[in-house]
Amino acid sequence: MIGKVGAIFLDRDGVINQNRVDHVKSWEEFEFVPGALESIRILTETGLPIFVVTNQAVVKRGLISLDTLNDIHQRMLREIEQAGGCVTKVYYCPHDNHEECSCRKPQPGMLLQAAREYNLDLTQSFIVGDAWTDVAAGVAVQAHGILVLSGRGRWNFVSCWNRFGLDFSAACDLEDAVTMIKEALRGNPMASTARLRGAFHMGLHPDTSLIL
Ligand SMILES: [Zn+2]
Repeated sequence: MIGKVGAIFLDRDGVINQNRVDHVKSWEEFEFVPGALESIRILTETGLPIFVVTNQAVVKRGLISLDTLNDIHQRMLREIEQAGGCVTKVYYCPHDNHEECSCRKPQPGMLLQAAREYNLDLTQSFIVGDAWTDVAAGVAVQAHGILVLSGRGRWNFVSCWNRFGLDFSAACDLEDAVTMIKEALRGNPMASTARLRGAFHMGLHPDTSLIL
């Protein structure tokens, strides 16, 4: 019997594509974060399956149809593929806060579903996101949570610090997170990269929400 493998979970908005205050409602509004495509290509080389896990309450709120959301994801996957990367599947939660579903992050429902469908070991998995809710979904299933300080991340660092203490890692952006993941897969502890240490040196401190 083949043992379970870990996986890499990526949040979408603020990690793969730029966050928009008014939400991404069409492919025209979908803009890749600089370096994200290359980062996903490098992640793909690790051999671990990659999944996107994204909260899309805009569906429930009627701002976007499921067809359009699926179309955006198809096009996103095509671009990733053309850049040499591979995302196995996109999971999205279409529900709103008040519905108390089990899939909307901080709940780990999407990770658990992927684990069931692909026989994953979540304790050997990583989740990269720009919100405390991404880290929380990871912590709930003992995956490694990595907060990126791109997107809304800089405003979520204090929340993560208060909630999870040392049980999460921080990275400058997806590119930085990839460096950390590759180190971890080599058996080294999850450690801050030189880039992140430099950023802290520049004034980001757990007690502040100072920007990078
Ligand atoms: Zn949901």
